Amino acid sequence: MPNAIYPGSFDPITYGHIDIVRRARKLFPHLVIAVVANPNKRPLFSVEERERITRDALGEMGIADVDVISYSGLLIDCARKIGADAVVRGLRANSDFDYEFQMALTNRDLDSDLETVFFMTAGKYSFLSSSIVKEVKRLGGDVSSFVPKSVEEALARKFASPNDAG
Ligand code: ADP
Repeated sequence: MPNAIYPGSFDPITYGHIDIVRRARKLFPHLVIAVVANPNKRPLFSVEERERITRDALGEMGIADVDVISYSGLLIDCARKIGADAVVRGLRANSDFDYEFQMALTNRDLDSDLETVFFMTAGKYSFLSSSIVKEVKRLGGDVSSFVPKSVEEALARKFASPNDAG
């Protein structure tokens, strides 16, 4: 049975990510979410917070048997370490494509055994990103249709006290 790794910033995890997790698990029963320690973007939450928030959100959604780890360095090294055969990524609008295309080809160049598999977003989540969720919450909006309750609470704590641990 092939193993897959789903890497990302998860700053924080949203229903868009969770939808990809649910669908990817049908093809890859052994799926590992890998939270990247130092994403290009400056994260709101520390890597430890993002890992914990992701784990709590999966628990809240009743998704068991998905491991959550964090990594720094090259994705292919992390994938090799955990014995992953495939990388799972999601595609929303056209704007995701160029970056994802570049990353997938680079990773294949670095490790020709590692396939990247793309899942097309669910229509209702096609606009949803961690950045939008943070922006709406920061401005006092309701994010309950974008993220599970535990994530919403972590965001509320973070914005109430930015130095607090999520
Ligand atoms: P990264 O910084 O690596 O892009 P993200 O946490 O923003 O990390 O996203 C991780 C992956 O999940 C990416 O492939 C992204 O396209 C995908 N993704 C994020 N939000 C959605 C969504 N609403 N629908 C489908 N895929 C999504």
